[in-house]
Amino acid sequence: MDTARRPTLAVIGGGIIGRICALAAADAGWQVDVYDAGPTRRAAQVAGGMLGALGEGHPGEGRLLDRSAASSAMWPDWIDRLGDPGIRTAEDSLIVATTAADGEYLRQMAQFVWSEQVGGDRLRPLRAREARALERSLSTRVHSGYLAVGEGALDNRRLLAALRIALVDAGAHWHRIAITALSDVTADQVLVAAGMATPRLLPEIALVPAKGEILRLHRNRESVPVPTRVVRARVEGRDVYLVPRADGVVVGATQYEPSALDDHAPRAGGVADLLADAVEIMPGLATYDLAEAAAGIRPCSADGLPIIERVDARTVVAAGHGRNGIVLAPDTAARVVRLLAG
Ligand SMILES: Cc1cc2nc3c(=O)[nH]c(=O)nc-3n(C[C@H](O)[C@H](O)[C@H](O)COP(=O)(O)OP(=O)(O)OC[C@H]3O[C@@H](n4cnc5c(N)ncnc54)[C@H](O)[C@@H]3O)c2cc1C
Repeated sequence: MDTARRPTLAVIGGGIIGRICALAAADAGWQVDVYDAGPTRRAAQVAGGMLGALGEGHPGEGRLLDRSAASSAMWPDWIDRLGDPGIRTAEDSLIVATTAADGEYLRQMAQFVWSEQVGGDRLRPLRAREARALERSLSTRVHSGYLAVGEGALDNRRLLAALRIALVDAGAHWHRIAITALSDVTADQVLVAAGMATPRLLPEIALVPAKGEILRLHRNRESVPVPTRVVRARVEGRDVYLVPRADGVVVGATQYEPSALDDHAPRAGGVADLLADAVEIMPGLATYDLAEAAAGIRPCSADGLPIIERVDARTVVAAGHGRNGIVLAPDTAARVVRLLAG
């Protein structure tokens, strides 16, 4: 490598992972070019933006819980770096059950979190009336719950926009193009972060698609106020979450196998379930405007952990972030910069 010039890096994919890795690399001295196919199939565009860790502590997923908690703690520095505190839309999460069986499900999740070394003291049990005192619009059907202190949410679209501005300010170049072969890009190093499309460029990387519907509701003059915390609910065996935004809430998300990788149409049944469960948990949401129904495909790895590794002397991959790409982004960027540095 010519030491008289900055080393060059081509990043394939401008989703959350490509952008944050590109910016971390630019900050570390790389001259970066980002190649992105556009927003149509970008999971980060539709995501809820929750920084889920304690609220996603499913037994058997200890390593993911550990990684998510560590990465979530890195977000405040990134938000400072981006200079836009409005990216953060909630500081804490309220996790509630609507039936005794749902309460038992959450209790098992909490027991698992408390058994891991991830700051489980931030997950605090609540009685129904304590939960309703925190979020006054919650349904009287709430049975029990937990407060996950410090487990908030980001506005994913504002975040993507801020990252792109920061990249340009850092001297990176953005190219709106779909790359079909890695040999088409000229750079000292190549990072493949193309989400669900990664295996098309690197067939040795196996990913499983998990489709999900997600809704955006806007508050109007008749509506109850937007909740101040993320509300995650277990409603008769189904999960639903409400993520605050400046103008309303994001309601997510279903999860099932898509019919094909271009199956991005939100299905009526998924939208109906989300609306029913959201209104069950917060009846006042019925007065909000339905601004958007969308679907995205989560790029999942076999073991639930992202695949961040060197593929060959010139190529590094960062993909397979599943349902946690936003929370795992800072940790991924740190690992990618270390891999690039050799
Ligand atoms: C409904 C839903 C809700 C979610 N909610 C959350 C949440 O609350 N919290 C959380 O942490 N995560 C959430 N996720 C998961 C998160 O969105 C993903 O893990 C994350 O977006 C993965 O990031 P990525 O950059 O790898 O992929 P993507 O965000 O999908 O980006 C991939 C990018 O690569 C580009 N690309 C593809 N092929 C090519 C090519 N050949 N050449 C150039 N560019 C290419 C695409 O245009 C796209 O911009 C959610 C996902 C879904 C679907």
